[in-house]
Amino acid sequence: MSARSAPLESIEVGDIRVTYLPDGDATLAATTVFPASNEALWEAHRELFDDDGKLLLTLGGFLVEAGDQKVVVDLGFGDMVVPFPPVDGVFRGGKLLSSLREAGVEPTDVDVVFYTHMHLDHVGWTAQDGELTFPNARYIAGEGELAFWQDVTDEGLAAIGPHPDAVLAPLVNRIESVADGALIASGVNVLASPGHTPGHCSAVISSGQDRAIILGDVVHCPLQLADGDLRIIFDVDPDVAARTRDRIAAELEGDPTITGASGHFSGSAFGRILQASGRRWVDLAETPAR
Ligand SMILES: [Zn+2]
Repeated sequence: MSARSAPLESIEVGDIRVTYLPDGDATLAATTVFPASNEALWEAHRELFDDDGKLLLTLGGFLVEAGDQKVVVDLGFGDMVVPFPPVDGVFRGGKLLSSLREAGVEPTDVDVVFYTHMHLDHVGWTAQDGELTFPNARYIAGEGELAFWQDVTDEGLAAIGPHPDAVLAPLVNRIESVADGALIASGVNVLASPGHTPGHCSAVISSGQDRAIILGDVVHCPLQLADGDLRIIFDVDPDVAARTRDRIAAELEGDPTITGASGHFSGSAFGRILQASGRRWVDLAETPAR
């Protein structure tokens, strides 16, 4: 069966509701984005591919409803279809606001926007025609993330970062940096998870006995959990990214009280990491009951 992008779906973490908000998908040449991989590996995992033989990544964000606070973590790709020849790929967005409305939330209701990082597939709905899409929200990113993109000089890197006019200009005087551990809403903390970008952060949701980690781009494909050498070309510091991935996977592994939330996996955004001759991601619906 071929891959399909992750659907709109909610989980309860204690009293907090977390909803995946699909925006679209990206289809990419697998051996190009994971240079250490070979066709034999992918041949055994056709469930990750679309009908045209491309690796399928979902694009989207998460709505976190904690008490009366509404947080959106990452803003998808935006209302565009853009070919990306370096990886023989296409990025397609457009659904994030309709996903948000389907979850019962209007853009004006959003209190906090948190960027795990500022690659272009996470900042897409920041503004429309120069006006912020979520006018009443605080905009937050991890320490160092904004400065990294403001100072970037490499053209190839700049091309996959936040657009200076469409994204960065509307955020001037609005975006705040927060440190590791910062509380951004009741039960929602920042967890520094650097490597993919220098200021990359995940979000930890805690309520009662339950937790979830919105991973951001700590991991792009479930096979990376079992194989530390499987690194995506978009990691700014691949060694640091691999160490971060290992640390966070170890935290999730085998613990039924903690759910992983990945914005890029196909099938389902929510899952757990089980140990079965190596770390294996299992969609939440298929995990053993607690
Ligand atoms: Zn991404």
